[in-house]
Amino acid sequence: MHELGITQEVVAIAEEHAKGQRIARVVLEIGKLSGVFPDAVRFCFELCAEGTAVEGAKLEIVETPGRARCRACNNEVPLEKPFGECSCGCTDLEWLAGDELRVRELEII
Ligand SMILES: [Zn+2]
Repeated sequence: MHELGITQEVVAIAEEHAKGQRIARVVLEIGKLSGVFPDAVRFCFELCAEGTAVEGAKLEIVETPGRARCRACNNEVPLEKPFGECSCGCTDLEWLAGDELRVRELEII
């Protein structure tokens, strides 16, 4: 489960920004195409946060939708999953958005 490593990284980023203070809230942006399961991150968060400045912080996850461009007809295709098909039948899609994973907001107490 690579969510554990990702969550550890998120906690490390938050701690770095906290500079010794405590974190009240972490807003995490997870793209629908990133392959990361928000529920798994939620599950790992408490565990990873234990004993750090992030312990007890509220985790909010914002899922960003996926968008891609069809390489055949240049059409823009909304994607809910890491694979899809353009209305022209082509599956050769270039991802434009939705594979991001980043800390959008940190609330420091
Ligand atoms: Zn197309």
